Amino acid sequence: MVTVETTRVKDYLNKTKLRTLDYVINPYVGCPHKCLYCYASYMSSFSKHKEEWGEFIDVKHTSKKINTFKIKDKKVMISTVTDPYNLYENKYKVTRNIMEQLVKSDAYITIVTKSKLVLRDIDLFKKMKHVEIAISISTLDENTKRKIELNSSSVKERLETLKLLKQNGIKTIVFISPIIPQITDFKRIIDATKDIADEYWFDKLNLRSSFKTKMLRFINEEYPIYNSIYKDIYTDKNSIYFDNISKEIDNYCLKNNITYKNFSAGT
Ligand code: SF4
Repeated sequence: MVTVETTRVKDYLNKTKLRTLDYVINPYVGCPHKCLYCYASYMSSFSKHKEEWGEFIDVKHTSKKINTFKIKDKKVMISTVTDPYNLYENKYKVTRNIMEQLVKSDAYITIVTKSKLVLRDIDLFKKMKHVEIAISISTLDENTKRKIELNSSSVKERLETLKLLKQNGIKTIVFISPIIPQITDFKRIIDATKDIADEYWFDKLNLRSSFKTKMLRFINEEYPIYNSIYKDIYTDKNSIYFDNISKEIDNYCLKNNITYKNFSAGT
């Protein structure tokens, strides 16, 4: 059960200090995809909601038009703390409205999603000057996916989405994120997507506050054999595991001429 409310905002566009970006647009507050590891769940503390993360969504409204002059040649990401194509977008179409405003902009637009609903807006993407769609994948195993990313599109649907975007001439990125220790097999994901991805991005699983507890509980219940590895990384803050993965990614991508960005090193 998800509580749905509307919220008025001054502007859809927000300046960001996130590396490599200038602006972010988050059409919603909250995300019903309800991933166990969701770093964005800290947003709960900025909202008035008492519900758990994943059990509320605020639909953003503003009468202010996006200032496309301001974002000329700027990097804009949609989204960073929600999925812009979450289940409620089908009804409320906030993202669609934003895309219609961005269609003629000169911004460099990156869309990040785990949802096949992104296909609905292919007509707009085809008219955009600079757009790329990043589909996040952490595992190819549907059973594991269902347990850690409750309401997002299945792995099969995400692969089909990438294929259709590619067939329509839209730049595709497979965002292997988060890399979940001992669960994410980045080489298998590359192997399954090499014909439908223009680029790969990698980022590691970061765990803090309440979602750290949820994720460690999940590992303890489903993969107790990995408890000591998770303790080493997330309690003892040992960076060796991800440093090694990061080197492995670099070596693999360079050896195989893969275009990539690697954000996975360090604690
Ligand atoms: S899709 Fe992204 S924002 Fe939504 S719950 Fe999952 S990790 Fe969080």
